[in-house]
Amino acid sequence: MIRDNLNAILSSLPSGVRLVAVSKYRPLSELEQAYECGQRIFAESRPSEFETKVLSLPKDIEWHFIGHLQTNKLRHVLPYVHMIHSVDSLHLLEAIEKWLAARESDGDLRRTDATGRNYVKALLEVHIGAEDTKQGFSPEEILTFDWDSAAEKYPHIEICGLMGMASHTDDIGRIEADFALIERLLSEVRSSHPAIAGRLRELSIGMSDDWPIAVRHGATMVRIGSAIFCR
Ligand SMILES: *Cc1c(COP(=O)(O)O)cnc(C)c1O
Repeated sequence: MIRDNLNAILSSLPSGVRLVAVSKYRPLSELEQAYECGQRIFAESRPSEFETKVLSLPKDIEWHFIGHLQTNKLRHVLPYVHMIHSVDSLHLLEAIEKWLAARESDGDLRRTDATGRNYVKALLEVHIGAEDTKQGFSPEEILTFDWDSAAEKYPHIEICGLMGMASHTDDIGRIEADFALIERLLSEVRSSHPAIAGRLRELSIGMSDDWPIAVRHGATMVRIGSAIFCR
C-alpha cells in the first residue's frame, strides 16, 4: 500500500520537486516501509515524537520539522534536523540562533557543515490561507524582513525560502490564489535582494489534497502525509 502510494506520487512529481513524507502520528513500522521503498526525507510536527523517531530509524534519513516549535522544545529538534519549514516568528528565529551558537563546539550535534559550525536550514512560514491563525509571518512581514542582514544576524541558520499552507477548502480558485501569493512573495523577495537571491530557492507548498496545484506554482518541496500513509 505505502509502496503503491509512493510510486503513484513519485511518478507524477516533476523531477526537481522533492517529496517530503509527513510521517507524524504514524507508527515506526510504516516509516520503515517507506524507507524500504527508498524514501529518505521524512517530516514530523511534534518535538518529542520527532526525537523518538530520529533515534529509532536509520542514520541516512534527512529529517525535516514542519510543526509549531516552542522555544523550550528546541533540544528535541535542533540536534538532528536538516530543515525547519515552520519558522513562524522572529522570536523563534532568534532562539534557534542562540541555541546553536551556544553549542558551537558540541561534537554531539549532527547538523554540522564542512567548517564544523552547527547550522540548520530554515524556511519562513507565511500565513497565506483563510484560516484565522496567528501562526506564520504575514505577507507584509515577509516583504519587510531584513533579508540582507539575515546571514550576519543568524549565522547558524541558512534561510533558504518560504513555506505555506493553502486554505482548507474545496475551492480550487482559493487554493490557487493562496499558492500564487506565496510564489509571488518569494519572487519579489528574490528580485529586490539580488545578493541573496541565489540562496532563496525553496518553496515548500502542497499537501496530500493540493500538491498538484502547488507544483504548478513553483513548489520545490511537497509535504505529503495521508496520501502516502493512510490510503
Ligand atoms: C500534516 C501536515 C502536512 C501533511 O498533510 P496531509 O494532508 O496528510 O498530506 C503537511 N504540512 C504540514 C505543516 C502538516 O502539519
